[in-house]
Amino acid sequence: MHKIYIILFFLVEIGHDVSVHGVKYLPKEIFNSKVEEIAMKLLPEAYDEVYKKMIEEVEFSISITSKDTGIKKLSTKVLRAFSQVRRHLFVSPGDESYAYINAPLSIGGGQTISQPFIVALMTELLDIQPNDKVLEIGTGSGYQAAILAQLAKEVYTVEVISFLAQTAEEKLRNFGYCNIHILEGNGRKGWIAHAPYNKIIVTAAAETIPPKLLEQLSPRGIMVIPLGESKNEQFLTLVYKDEEGNITQQTILSVSFVPFV
Ligand code: SAH
Repeated sequence: MHKIYIILFFLVEIGHDVSVHGVKYLPKEIFNSKVEEIAMKLLPEAYDEVYKKMIEEVEFSISITSKDTGIKKLSTKVLRAFSQVRRHLFVSPGDESYAYINAPLSIGGGQTISQPFIVALMTELLDIQPNDKVLEIGTGSGYQAAILAQLAKEVYTVEVISFLAQTAEEKLRNFGYCNIHILEGNGRKGWIAHAPYNKIIVTAAAETIPPKLLEQLSPRGIMVIPLGESKNEQFLTLVYKDEEGNITQQTILSVSFVPFV
């Protein structure tokens, strides 16, 4: 009798708050309702806890890579942007309870929502200013675009996969973002209608920098792009265009992104 009681207690504990490799997931039952406010009213402290854990892990990754990246800690403005965007609203339905793990997650079509550490690092490297016009290639879930939109004036984002572009557009519109503009098309061409851009972020790996993107980067503009032929040999690269249009490139970190199509 005593043993049965212990087993039952264990099961209840596991069902409520699962911890794998020390990472806490949001309990699944709070997502029975898709309405975030209701979910947050049910278990506000669960959100705070998993969000805090995710930020701790991102900050740890930032600190151990600082020698390569030059970024020692997250800036106040990037931290604020992160706190304003709830990642569980951007993952695939059913995956909400994994949303605050510091890992990429599948969003369908063979694509992923980037790892929070990578989103944070790329955003820091861009050093976004309030008046910046930013071009993102690879809208995917719309998560990175939402973070950028907290910091920049306008975000233009291009997605080649039709259903991802449409889902992100609908989602971001419902969330009330007015400064994110989505184009369905091949990002190799950039988005000439709104060029030049102060900052360009590419979230899929290209073999070389697409020339149209370089053209659409404004003088004193910064681009961050993963470059490399195979998935095992990609490097996050920082590209700077000076006042005269001269380009300099700096290799930042070994990374693993989905390939550019
Ligand atoms: N920024 C996204 C990450 C998406 S993963 C997020 O926050 O969720 C990379 C995305 O790049 C995928 O959605 C993929 O379809 C898109 N992609 C790949 N090649 C592309 C291209 N040539 N033009 C536009 N988008 C592209």
